[in-house]
Order: sequence, then C-alpha cells, then structure tokens
Amino acid sequence: MVRNKIISIISAALVLLSLVAVLVFRTLPPADTEPDIPEGPEIVIPVDPGKPDDPDGPEDPVEPQTVIPESAGAAEGNGSGPAPQAPELTWLEGLEIPEYSGKAYIPINGNVPFFATDAIAPVSYEIYYELDSLGRCTLADAVVGQDIMADGKRGSISEIKPTGWHTERYSFVDGEALYNRCHLIAHYLTGENANPRNLVTGTRYMNTAGMNALENMVGDYIKETGNHVRYRVTPVWTGDNLICDGLLVEAWSVEDGGEDICFCIYAYNVQPGIVIDYLTGDNYAVDGEKPKDQNSEPSYAKYLLDEDVTGTYVLNTKKKKFHRPDCQGVKDIAPENREEYTGSRNELVEEGYVPCGGCNP
Ligand SMILES: [Zn+2]
Repeated sequence: MVRNKIISIISAALVLLSLVAVLVFRTLPPADTEPDIPEGPEIVIPVDPGKPDDPDGPEDPVEPQTVIPESAGAAEGNGSGPAPQAPELTWLEGLEIPEYSGKAYIPINGNVPFFATDAIAPVSYEIYYELDSLGRCTLADAVVGQDIMADGKRGSISEIKPTGWHTERYSFVDGEALYNRCHLIAHYLTGENANPRNLVTGTRYMNTAGMNALENMVGDYIKETGNHVRYRVTPVWTGDNLICDGLLVEAWSVEDGGEDICFCIYAYNVQPGIVIDYLTGDNYAVDGEKPKDQNSEPSYAKYLLDEDVTGTYVLNTKKKKFHRPDCQGVKDIAPENREEYTGSRNELVEEGYVPCGGCNP
C-alpha cells in the first residue's frame, strides 16, 4: 500500500515536472533565433575615384584609394583593435614648409587640398590609421557630416600619452601647460575621444591659435548647412622625432564643390617663448624661466578636490567653465560651445575648466 502510494506520488510529481519543463521551454526562444546583437558602426566606403563612370579617372593619380578593410570598425574607439595601415603619404613628399615666422598657420599648395576632389561622395566616414613603428600618429581622414559629429558628450583623454608627452608648465603659457593632447580630427567634428591614433603631443599654441579656428569653421559650416566636408589631417614628422613639426590640415566642402570650405593649411607645433627638442619633447623657456615643478601648486589647484569625484557636467568650452546639468546657466550656453562631460572632476580642472560660481559643481 505504502509503496503504491509513493509510486503514485512520484508519478504525479514527474507529470508536474514535465509540464513545468514544457512551459519553461516554450518561453525560451527557439534555438535558431539569433539573439539581438547590435551591429557595429556602419562604415561607409568612399567612392572609388577611378570608378568606370568617371572616364577621366582621378585628377590626382598619386591620391591613394581609401580602402577600409573589414576591421575598420576598430579604427575608431579606443584603438585596442587593428587599424588600417596608413597609405604612403605622397602629398608630404617634397613639401617645403617655411620656418615659423609669427603666424600660427599658413596656407600650403596654394591653399588647395592635395586629395582629388572630383569624386568625393557626400557620405560620412572616418578613419584613424595605425600608429607607426615609433608609436606616432600617421593620418586621420574623414568625410564629416552631421551624422558623425560629436553628440556633445566627451569623456576623459588623460590616459593617452602621445609620443613625446611631457607635462611642463610655464606661467606665460595660456593655461600653463606647454603641451596638450591635440586631436588630429577635433572631437567637435567626429566625436572621437580617447583614440591614440588621433592624439598627438601638441603645443597649447598650436591647439588654440592654430587648430581651433579651423575646426570651428568646418564644424559650424556642417551644422548650418547639413553638407559634408572631406577633412584630412597629416602630422608632419622629421626623422625619428617624437614631437611632430606641425599638422597639415586639408578640407573641402563636398556638396558645393569646395565653394565655402576649401583650404590646405599647415599649423606649426611651436610655442612662442619656448624652445622644444622635437626628438624627445624636452623644452625650456627662452627667457630662462624654469618650468614649474611638477609638484608645485598650479594656478588651478584651488579648484581641485582632495578626493576626486566622477560626475556628469555641462561644459562651456569657450568660457572654460563647467556646471551641474541642472544649472540655470546651462541654457544660456551657445550650442556650439556646450558639451556634456562625464568623468573625473579634477581632470576637468586640470584642463583649465573652472567650476561655475552659481551651481558650484
Ligand atoms: Zn552653473
């Protein structure tokens, strides 16, 4: 009797279990359903300048075709994956750049880009080519459209140490730091952040007096018109130097055939009042001022927190101020000067940002 009862209880339990199992498996997706994997960034391959419906072929035969290998997705982001090898930089061959003579940048090649402009498709792409054997940036090339411009969010770049990186500070340099991490293609244009293939050691002077005006002009044009701009930046290196001589910046607006934006500019990687050893990045002031001791108090020290915090702030990139996102002052910031930043507060201060006196972030 007892045994029969046990058996019937066990069978009832088994029936229940199998019912439950059937129910559970029915709620699982069939095995052949792929889980939703987000696709990688779409890479648009630029039009081959020598395509058959272009009987004359490329105007400039030395312009290498821009080929994006399948791994091109890795050319963006943090640079941990493989990136395409830079083509031969034929446009730098025989380039004669006059000595710096007081102008932050000068036109080169009659201010006309070296790349062929007859077959540039108005579709956005961005490529950051592989570092060379010395770890130096080689080339950044893009067609910039609104779809790949920065969404106003920016993170930390201080973990990147471009070749020749030094941290000397001088009282007469704007913001004190002689060197900045200088984007080849500005964050404003492609939203590219801590990508070692897009950051060189650049002087404060080159960054602000040389590059910013060009970047803002191109970015503002794209924002206003919705057009595209081919934008290529080539660092110019001498020998095995770890600091580049300067940056060659070429830009050409696509939809209007270069009418509004067309330039070929060389920006000097110099800092007035400082002598730089381009081989190593070592430097000294012409007037003999010693760089501030690494451990001495920088002018911004009063804004640093003893214990750093991570937060989300809204930056006024023009006034170099940062706010809490809910600060009343935020809505008065012009869109082109407004950036959202999430990261270390102290790092913002070290970049020269001052906390807003109103919201006291
Ligand atoms: Zn504020």
